[in-house]
Order: sequence, then C-alpha cells, then structure tokens
Amino acid sequence: MQMEQKKTYINGKWINGTSKKTLQSVNPATGEVLAEIKENGIEDVKKAIEAAKHSFYITREWRDMDTQSRSDILLKIADMVEEKSEEIAKTESMDNGKPLREAEADVDDAVHCFRYYAGLIRTPQGGVYGVNSNFGRMHSYEVYEPAGVCALITPWNFPFLMGVWKLAPALAAGNSIIFKPSSETVLSVIKLFEIFEKAGLPEGTVNLVIGPGSMVGNYLAESRDVDMVSFTGSTAAGQSIMRAAAGNVKKIGLELGGKSPNIIFADTDLESAVEWAMIGIFFNQGEVCCAGSRIIIESSIKDEFVKRLAERAEKMTLGNPVDNPDMGPLVSEKHMQEVLSYVETGKKEGARLVCGGCRYTEGDCANGYFVRPAIFDECTADMRIVREEIFGPVVTIQTFETEDEAVSLANDTVYGLAGAVFTNDITRAMRVIREIRAGITWINCYNPAFSEAPWGGYKMSGIGRELGKHGLEEYQEVKQININLTPGAPGWYGQEVL
Ligand code: NAD
Repeated sequence: MQMEQKKTYINGKWINGTSKKTLQSVNPATGEVLAEIKENGIEDVKKAIEAAKHSFYITREWRDMDTQSRSDILLKIADMVEEKSEEIAKTESMDNGKPLREAEADVDDAVHCFRYYAGLIRTPQGGVYGVNSNFGRMHSYEVYEPAGVCALITPWNFPFLMGVWKLAPALAAGNSIIFKPSSETVLSVIKLFEIFEKAGLPEGTVNLVIGPGSMVGNYLAESRDVDMVSFTGSTAAGQSIMRAAAGNVKKIGLELGGKSPNIIFADTDLESAVEWAMIGIFFNQGEVCCAGSRIIIESSIKDEFVKRLAERAEKMTLGNPVDNPDMGPLVSEKHMQEVLSYVETGKKEGARLVCGGCRYTEGDCANGYFVRPAIFDECTADMRIVREEIFGPVVTIQTFETEDEAVSLANDTVYGLAGAVFTNDITRAMRVIREIRAGITWINCYNPAFSEAPWGGYKMSGIGRELGKHGLEEYQEVKQININLTPGAPGWYGQEVL
C-alpha cells in the first residue's frame, strides 16, 4: 500500500491541520508508514467547535430536520458503509493490527448500529404523568431534545466500531459533533467522514479533529462551548476529562477500563469453557476493555483447565492480520513494551508463567509488534498483574473453593465493566451473576455485544451506557412540560383554591 496524505474535516471542508506536527499512521504488523496527517492545533479545534455550535444553534438544519428524514440519512450512511465494508475492514486491520475477519465483524456491527438508531428514533419516546391537582388540573409530559454540541473521543482498540457506537446515537438524537479519534488509528474513521460528506449531512454537523488527547481532547473537555463529552478510553484519561468537564458542568459519558472476572465452576462443560475463555482474553489480541483477564476457577478442575488452555494458546497462529491469523500484532511498539513489562512484573511477583508472554519475530512477523499469548498460573489477589488492566493477551488464574469465595475474588477490583460465569447449574449462574458488580455479564459465553443492549460499567469502569435505548438517551436532554388545563388564577394568595 502506498503512503497516503490524509486531511481532517471541519465545517464541511477537508483541511490540513495547522499544528506543526505530522502524525504517521503505522502498520503494527510491519512497521510500515501507511499515511501521514498534519495534526490539528488548538485554532483548528476552536473552528470545529464554532462550526458545530453554528450548525446546532444558528442554522439548526440537522437538529430541526423531521425525524423521518434524519432516519433516512442514517439508513443511507449504513448502506454506504456496507458498500465500502471490505475497504474499511482492510484499512482497520492494517492500521490497528486486528485480524481481518474481526475487522469485518466490527464494520458489520457498525452498519447494524446505524440501522438500529435510524429505527429507534422513529419509535415513541417519553411519557405522560398523572400529577396532583394543587394548582388546578395539570397535564405533565416529557420530551427528549438533543444535548447540543457534543465532543466524542475514542480509543484505538475498535477505532471504527467505538466511533460508530457514539456517532450513530449522537447523530440520531440531532446533535452537532466534534469527533476526536485516537492518534494511533485514524484511517477507518476518515473513511467514515468521507461517507458522511457524501450522505448529505449539513455543514458543521460532524467535524473531525486529530491530535494528542492531552491537548486536543483536553481542550474539547474543557471548552464551555461544548455541551457534552462522551469518552471511551482509559480510566486515568476519563478522570482527567471529568475534572476538565466540571467548568461548565457538561453532560459526560465515560466508558473506561476493566479487569473482568471469568468465573468457572467445576460442573461446567470444560471444553466449552476453555473455548470461551480463549475468546474472552485473546480476541483482538486481548486489547479489549471487557476482556476476561482474570480467570477465577474452582480448584478441583484448575490443573486440567490450565493444561487445555495452554495447549490451545500455544497453537495460536500469529501473523499479518490481513491474512487472518488467530492473532495480529499489538497496536504499537510502545504498547507492546508495556505488555511485555507486565509479563516481567508477573514473574517477579511470583506468578507462574505457563506459556507465551514473549515477543514473536518469526518469518513475516520480524518487524511487527507481536506477543505470544500468555497464561499466568498461581496468581494471588495482591499482584499487580491481577489488579491492573494490561490490555494485551495476558490472563491470570486464581482458584476458589466456595461460591462466596469466587464472588468475593471477582468483586475485588476497582473496575466493574464485565464478567462471566460458567456452570451447568442455572440457579447458581443466576445467583452469582447478580452478585457481580459489573455492567456487562455473560453466562456460559464471553464477549457477545449487541446494538440493542446497554453497554457500560460500574465503579471505575465508567458513567452512563452506550447502545440500546439508553445509548440514545445519553445524547439527549429530557424536558418536563406542565400544562395548566384550568384557566384563571391558581387561587393561592387570598383566593379560593380552584
Ligand atoms: P486513552 O485513554 O489513552 O485514549 C483514549 C482517547 O482519549 C484517545 O483519543 C486519546 O487521544 C484521548 N485522551 C487521552 N488523554 C486525554 C485527556 N487527558 N483528555 C482528553 N482526551 C484524552 O485509551 P486508549 O489507550 O486509546 O484505549 C485503551 C483504553 O480504553 C483501555 O483502558 C480500555 O479498557 C478502554 N476502553 C474502554 C471501552 C469501554 O467500552 N468501556 C472500550 C474500548 C476501550
């Protein structure tokens, strides 16, 4: 692939950013530079905010568009994404490192997400309330309105899909948007903005800015002209955004990190649990917020489980992601070094490295950032590898004797994003899943997510929900309207009550 020059998109125009810095988008499988983009400086970000503000508060074309027309445009976007799905998926795979089939699945999910929100906005929202009549007869009801100017900030692990999880509902609700992707992976969302331009979104409705989170992202979070910030990324950056957003008490949505428990009871179908545990931790190279990175297993089956899991992990193929190996490279050299350093920490802490955890440089992988899938046995709750999010193909194993102990180990974390339970006893499955303090849970499976169902975390994994009807409400304000049905004065000050 030839190196491309790419631009950012502000107020309906493709522009070179005015910062002095040029961003290089690198293929993590080969180290090859795929594209260069001149980054946006603060002046560009101000223009993007101004454009969104103008489109929301002055021209109001998108905000005031009737729901059916807005829905039709979202359906058109979905069709256009579907038509270009092969190209988008290949770009994503090369830019991020995920196997092509996983990138294809992401694009497919994104198409469904646009279609879901196109449909959802055509269904009734709100309600009518029965209220007391101290002021005379009243009619009270609620309406949903767009939040306004929204800044959407996304990570690099699912660049296209995480973008669409925000863009589809935010657009469906009628907002104007400034979108900031992670600098690691900008190429697939640039393709989405090319589609937005062709689909007929009014000028200023969507703006794309590219630059460092600490500068561009932070400016968006701080700006008093931004009404809402929706962020997906690390808990540390989420905390910083929360502080920055306090200036004008913005609405915030935070989808943050995780260290999710995968609890396995002895009565489960072991082969199936091994298969799902593999998907839970090694899917997308383990660069998954909800990854089942802590396996908590009943002691009596631990040895057999670890043996089978290691056999499977050792057989995993690593290679250029466009050739569909089992796993691709990690997203960058820096991230690979972070993951490898956690492996060293684990060894020093006394956990037993059963397999993997080393850089892989065979054949075509020589210049890429590949790490063999790692399993740490004999882990304890105080270890850093058990407590901190590694965000790579590294799983820890802890054991339990009783159900209470399993629940207590599962909840021994500052995070609360996801969790799973494997058992053939459905009563126990239901009991345990209800005890796990996490927003996304699975019984006898791991990972599936749907546009229709809410996604988000408890505790330090976030605030709010994406997807489903809650995902639309995130980008809306609710207004209460009370109508006086009784003409005349309310009769309070010296008059008879009506
Ligand atoms: P990150 O926090 O480093 O960056 C995420 C985005 O925020 C990027 O666009 C970045 O430029 C920007 N950013 C960074 N610092 C900022 C600041 N101070 N102010 C404003 N913006 C800032 O995260 P990452 O490394 O890109 O992604 C990995 C993290 O994302 C993991 O912790 C993972 O668990 C989390 N994640 C969560 C979910 C979820 O649904 N809960 C989904 C995907 C990823």
